[in-house]
This record gives sequence, C-alpha cells and structure tokens, in this order.
Amino acid sequence: MYGPLVRNAQTGEAMAKIAMKFGGTSVADLDRIRHVATLVKREVDRGHQVAVVVSAMAGETNKLVGWTKDISPLHDAREYDTVVAAGEQVTAGLLAVALGAIGVPARSWLGWQIPIRTSAMHGSARIEGIEPGLLNERLGQGQVAVVAGFQGIAADNRISTLGRGGSDTSAVAVAAAIKADRCDIYTDVDGVYTTDPRIVAKARRLPKIAFEEMLEMASLGAKVLQTRSVEIAMLYRVPVRVLSTFDPDAGGTLLCDEEDIVEKKPVTGIAYSRDEAKISLMKIPDRPGIAAAIFGPLADAGVNVDMIVQNVSEDGRRTDLTFTCARSELARALKALEDAAPAIGYREITSDSNVAKVSIIGIGMRAHPGVAQAMFRTLSDKGINIQVISTSEIKVSVLIAEEYVELAVRALHSAYELDTA
Ligand code: ADP
Ligand code: ASP
Ligand code: MG
Repeated sequence: MYGPLVRNAQTGEAMAKIAMKFGGTSVADLDRIRHVATLVKREVDRGHQVAVVVSAMAGETNKLVGWTKDISPLHDAREYDTVVAAGEQVTAGLLAVALGAIGVPARSWLGWQIPIRTSAMHGSARIEGIEPGLLNERLGQGQVAVVAGFQGIAADNRISTLGRGGSDTSAVAVAAAIKADRCDIYTDVDGVYTTDPRIVAKARRLPKIAFEEMLEMASLGAKVLQTRSVEIAMLYRVPVRVLSTFDPDAGGTLLCDEEDIVEKKPVTGIAYSRDEAKISLMKIPDRPGIAAAIFGPLADAGVNVDMIVQNVSEDGRRTDLTFTCARSELARALKALEDAAPAIGYREITSDSNVAKVSIIGIGMRAHPGVAQAMFRTLSDKGINIQVISTSEIKVSVLIAEEYVELAVRALHSAYELDTA
C-alpha cells in the first residue's frame, strides 16, 4: 500500500488509489458504458481515487486497421497510429460523460495530454514514461481520470499506439505512475483460466497465477493480458487482478509472486497461437557463421524469429534449418532471405503458414521430471505430428499443423489434470 491509510467513515474500509481497465467488450455499446460507469462509481463511493483506462468499443480497432490497410497496404506507420488510436478517444469521452450523468466528476485524457511518452516504433511503441502530475492533481480533487488506452505520444510529437491489446499495458503503466494500490483489469471472462475458456469448456479459473507464468502465458498467445503489461506489473510491483465486467464480484485472478502459490502442479496453463509461420532452408552449408548469415538479415528486416531447429548434417557439408516467425512477418522474412541468398547459399526455401504453436506452462515443471515427455506422448496418441519443439525452464512449446490446435489443447488439458471435475 502506498497511500496514507485513511478510512471510509461509513464502511471503515481503507481508502486507496486504484486503476481500473475496461476492454473492448466491456464498452461495446452505450448500455455497457453506462454499466462501466456504475462500477467506477462503486469504487468512488467507497472513498477511492480512481483512474480508469478504456479500450475502443469491440470491433472498432479492427475496423480502423482494416480501413488503413484497404486504402494502402504500404501505409506510413505514423498515419496508421493516427487512425487506429481514434477508437479509444471515443470511449474515453463517452465514459466521462456517462460518469458525469450519474453525478461522478470525471475528465477524459488522451495519451498526449498526460503525457504518456513512448518510443517511436509506431504501431508497436513501448511506454517510456508517464508524467503523473496532472493525473494526481485531478485525482486529489476527487475527479475520476478516464484515460484512453493503447495510445501515447512519441518523441517525434506524433500519436503512437502500443500494439494490439495495448490498453492492458496502458492501465498497468498508469497504475505504476500514479503509485496506485492496485490495478483491476475488467474483461469478458472472470479471470485467467487454465486455458482459453472459449475453446475448452472445462477450463478452470485460477484464483492466483505467478507473474512468471502469466508472462509466458501471455507471450505464448493467451491474449487475456498483453505481455508488456505483465512485465510492467512485475517490474514496478503493481498488484494486478483480472475480473469480469459482467460479474465483478466473481473472484477473479490475482497476479502474485511464485512463493505465494502453495499447490504447484507440473502444468498451470496451456496457451496456443495461430499467428505462426514456418520457414525451412534446405541444404545450407554446414560451416561456422552460417546462422549469423541467416539471422542477421532477418533481424535487420525486423523479423522476430522464435523457434529454431537445425538438422544434423549427413555428410558434414550441408544441412537443413527450420525456424518460425509471426505469420504477419512471413512475407518480409522471405524477402530478406531471398535477398541474402547468395551470401547464405541454400538450395531451396519452403514456407508454411498452416501451423500453430501449443505450449504448456508451469513453475511446477522445475520440480517434476517427465513433463515434456507426457506432452509428446499425449500428442502422439492423438496422431498429431510435432514439427518443432522449444523449451525453457517453465514451458514447452510445440509447432503442429493448425487444424489440430483445439484437439491438442483439449487433450493436453485433460492429460495434465486441469479439467474441472
Ligand atoms: P479485452 O477486450 O477485455 O481486453 P481480450 O479479448 O483482449 O479482452 O481478452 C479476453 C479474452 O482472452 C477472453 O475472452 C478469452 O477468450 C481469451 N483468453 C485466452 N486465453 C485465456 C486464458 N488463459 N484465460 C482467460 N482468457 C483467455
Ligand atoms: N483497442 C486496441 C485493440 O483492439 C487495444 C486494446 O483493446 O487493448 O487492440
Ligand atoms: Mg485485450
């Protein structure tokens, strides 16, 4: 707790400074925005100072992204940001109006007005700093601050956006900047589940999840929180809860330290990502420097390489190498490799975007041997072929054909005893 311990005269509850975040489905229409206003009012009535971060109405960002791409697939990223940041401006203003209508003083804030400063990587900028002065001043006056999520201002003095799902990051960063006692992320599910409840009906809500596990879950595809938001929560020690807008008292999930988790099953959760593509380079020379010759040009082209596997060469002279990257980066990766073909010296290049990555995650893996083996056996029992494998201390990921994703996730969910009874 940061703030002075002041108690509400009626309830005796300690008064705190809190950040609340509402995602796209939570603000999808005017009735939902009115509902969100009542949830904010509840906290104000408890005596708390409240900063609220909002996403664009559901579907709005997709529409704006689509318009930009339709006008020109090769658009300037700065103009992309100008367009796609607009959705959050609308909901921030509307929520401030809805709060005013029920007697709660509120003001909307766009990224540049605070300001929320970001890097100049338009389209996927990183928050570099938030000046808390203005927000704190207004909060101190009893005014709710309604902050437009997903956006900031870059050093080039232009609007920037934080990458899809970025309002989570705005919320945790605002919470850190104003030294909030907690950050509540309200969404369309009542917490973080053992896997995406949309594809596995038997998924269970996790009352608590360790930061490290949440970081892996998010970066391996569980879009309930943007990865960067979890990093900021860890770094600045912001207590984060994930809650349901539609059932706000339903328990939720608390992000916590590993030590606070008593029962450590081998696997805590399963994540999947369809945003994957695979590239294979056939018959590359098996010599020192070859990996640098391949991955250097990819890095220069801004391609994030994920899984890598190199075959053992049969004759000591030539071998094959396979790696994965985001599907959206496939065309760029192929172009970079074709340009670098003379320097690399491969015989053939193939690519496949009909692939997906399925991952098992758990801090309990460290203490339980044979966890990866159980994954491979489960997939083989279902006749699912594993194309690439990668592991770290607390996760195992496999690349499989996309059509088997749901089957794989369900089978693994049962195999690791994560199903609800
Ligand atoms: P918001 O618009 O509120 O930011 P998102 O759609 O970005 O919401 O994230 C919530 C969604 O994340 C859920 O509806 C769910 O389908 C998906 N999801 C994926 N993995 C998980 C998980 N492990 N636990 C909870 N939700 C998950
Ligand atoms: N509206 C943005 C998106 O759809 C940001 C967010 O919702 O978190 O990606
Ligand atoms: Mg989201």
